[in-house]
Amino acid sequence: MTSAICYCNAKIHAETGPIEKGWLTAEGGRITAFAAGNAPENPAYSYRNCNGLHVLPGFVDIHIHGACGHEFMDAHALAFRSIAQHCAQHGVTAFLPTTWSAPQEEILNVLHQLKRTMKEGTGSSRILGAHIEGPYLNPRFSGAQDERHLRPIDEREVQRWLATGIVRLLALAPEIPAAMALIEQVVEEGMTVSAAHSGARFAQLKQAIAYGLKQVTHTFNGMAPLHQREPGILGAALSLKELSCEVIADGIHVHPSLVNLLYQIKSKDRLILITDSVRAAGLPDGSEYEQDGRVVRCNDGAARLADGTLAGSTLTMDRALLNLSEWTGNSFTELWPCASLTPARAIQLDHEIGSIAVGKRADLVLLSAEGQVLETIVAGETVYRATSHH
Ligand code: FE
Repeated sequence: MTSAICYCNAKIHAETGPIEKGWLTAEGGRITAFAAGNAPENPAYSYRNCNGLHVLPGFVDIHIHGACGHEFMDAHALAFRSIAQHCAQHGVTAFLPTTWSAPQEEILNVLHQLKRTMKEGTGSSRILGAHIEGPYLNPRFSGAQDERHLRPIDEREVQRWLATGIVRLLALAPEIPAAMALIEQVVEEGMTVSAAHSGARFAQLKQAIAYGLKQVTHTFNGMAPLHQREPGILGAALSLKELSCEVIADGIHVHPSLVNLLYQIKSKDRLILITDSVRAAGLPDGSEYEQDGRVVRCNDGAARLADGTLAGSTLTMDRALLNLSEWTGNSFTELWPCASLTPARAIQLDHEIGSIAVGKRADLVLLSAEGQVLETIVAGETVYRATSHH
């Protein structure tokens, strides 16, 4: 299938550091070599001149619910493929489809459909497994998660999820009964647990960390605000180095100054850019749709329920990275780990993806000097090319 390709004349942002002008070879879907200077001549290679573009590792979105009028809860392969294509357009080479609070059979059905599509492939951005957000959440901080579907932890339900073998990330509120035992069990089985939609006390977060909790879901959103005498989940997210923090950097969910603050504290090793995008992403402004019988309206890049509650985002990963760049004053060529390596590490796939290193998958994104996505490459195959670029 994949032949040997040599991308040359590129600004390569490798895990070991940037190369101002270099080349990179990919074979069998993996990165086989890269170095500074002119590409070695080899008749086995087909050559691609990158014309001085930036080559970054493909972005990894570990929290995405949908896009382009589709959602993973639709449990349909065509919906999955359409979302995958949207991802590829924005530089995402691998992603973790995210479910939300819904009846037991519905979530399970999504997992089974995802597993099927993972086997068949999407033809573009790759599905990495599943992220289950809810239904074990605190109703006081449910946000746009439908409260009617929140429920106590059900050990048998969890077993059915895990039996699919594709769950990589579980987001729950650590303060709900039996959460600690569940965290311990899920972490022992090799998955990651993130604290979400929660009003947990600081001490509960410390306890959850001792049981293996490592992450905080969309930091600042769906959680109790900061209190100086009870730092709670937000205080824990900010102050405890064990916790990596997801953040929705769309300028709507969190004020840019707080995204900058989070970056100053967490650095690129602990800040995870996510989109948390929903059906509305990639749809025109003014679009409207129904979700669980509730109307969602999209205006000025925000998707909201009738009462104004944010119902996920319309953010894309390329935009998120550029926003972070603007708000922190650092170049996207420095911040790239927040969009690839850090999320890959969060779901324990950094040995495979997330950076440019020999042996890793040849999942790459070619960007202009301004950070515009011009080409997306999955396992050495171009899956997206901007029409304006030749
Ligand atoms: Fe959420």
